[in-house]
Amino acid sequence: MIEIFQEDDEFIAFFPKSLRSFKINKDMKILIELIQSGEPTYNICEFLDISQEDLSQLIFDLKQINLPPDFDKRREIPDNVLKRLSINISNDCNLKCTYCYANFGCYGAANNLMDLELIKVTLDKFFEAFDEILIIQVFGGEPLLHYEGFKFICEYIETKYTQGKIKYRTQITTVTNGTIMTSKIIELIKKYHVLVTISLDGPEEIHDKSRPFLNGQGTFSKILKNIEKLNAVTNQPAQIEVTYNQEHINRNVSILDILKFIEEKLKHISVHIAPVSADKKECFALENRNAFVESVDEINRHNSSTNSNFGYVILEDIQESLKYPHTRINFCDAGIDLISVSTTGEVYPCYMFIDEPEFYLMDIKDPLFSRETLLMKTKSYRNYNRLNDLNSKCSTCFAANVCGGCMGINYYNTNDIHISPSDDCTMKRKMLKKVVFNLQKSNGSVNYG
Ligand code: SF4
Ligand code: SF4
Repeated sequence: MIEIFQEDDEFIAFFPKSLRSFKINKDMKILIELIQSGEPTYNICEFLDISQEDLSQLIFDLKQINLPPDFDKRREIPDNVLKRLSINISNDCNLKCTYCYANFGCYGAANNLMDLELIKVTLDKFFEAFDEILIIQVFGGEPLLHYEGFKFICEYIETKYTQGKIKYRTQITTVTNGTIMTSKIIELIKKYHVLVTISLDGPEEIHDKSRPFLNGQGTFSKILKNIEKLNAVTNQPAQIEVTYNQEHINRNVSILDILKFIEEKLKHISVHIAPVSADKKECFALENRNAFVESVDEINRHNSSTNSNFGYVILEDIQESLKYPHTRINFCDAGIDLISVSTTGEVYPCYMFIDEPEFYLMDIKDPLFSRETLLMKTKSYRNYNRLNDLNSKCSTCFAANVCGGCMGINYYNTNDIHISPSDDCTMKRKMLKKVVFNLQKSNGSVNYG
């Protein structure tokens, strides 16, 4: 199906499989709608006064334009390579974020730090199972509460690499709340080129309300000082993660405001702004996702008038997908390109599912642990194709080849990893539409009709 996007009296024909789009006039809009409604061709020809040959040619052209790319990005990674291993070295956290999905760091279990011997077993088993691991993500709770665990991972991987036991130096990353940034930690980040993501919901009043210390005290100023400390000797953090919630709306802080704020405080840096995922009853839950939809035009206007290139991950993902079209059969990497290990050595498709019995794969200490067993246990994730799943809303959605999604968020909101919350879907479709219009305006359009 071709999707017709409309803004005032402008129309764009969007081809969901090839991700191409063309500005069309009203007649062409009517023609495409008639063809798609199943109206007999002789009626269409008579109604629009066109020949049968012209109509047949047009239908052929439209089908050609919508041919899907035969390129599925995920399949670039062979089975003997694991894109990302996430190790939950700490089940503990020193903050009490209002919206924490991980139950303040501990997921469903008691607080604990991962035993060093278990970290070693995890690394050994995974490096034995896979010829290459591209990324090791040091995760938590708050991972930097476990300095020894973090240090062990950095040093162990470096030793394996320098001794020639692994062919490529695995990239280490970590996601931290940024409150613990001792000189020893900074030294490790510097020495082992760790990529750091820090969560910051700034401006200060909003951040301090949503991400306080356990005793209720604000964390904003501490984090900002730590970022300065880190940034003085490294090029980190690589990314700032913002959870946009109702408090931002209540205080009239738009997504563009956040980007400006981060730019002012931290200079140019990748920013991931995501809507808070929460039960509608919670006071911080977003009433709607309009701020994200409006951000597309606001950022576009800002960038054109100031010659800057502000953006955030969701928006850049859409732009990137349109630029380099590919077929997206999965929501995300969980269980396919990502495997997660809990502090106790349990293996899950993603950290979002830790301690959810339904998603448990196996124990890292299981003598049967191997690549083959893991591939077998994650078969349902690897074989899933949302474009063929008639129960999934994605199979008929025009945004399917653009939209990623998070199976964890799906699960916690709809109880089904393959069904996204409606709010998110509406937001993503509206954002896509706006991005397509903006691209047509800035690139000039190919008129088809
Ligand atoms: S917008 Fe929703 S239905 Fe459409 S592809 Fe994305 S997750 Fe699926
Ligand atoms: S479930 Fe969510 S957090 Fe996990 S890989 Fe998918 S998108 Fe990422």
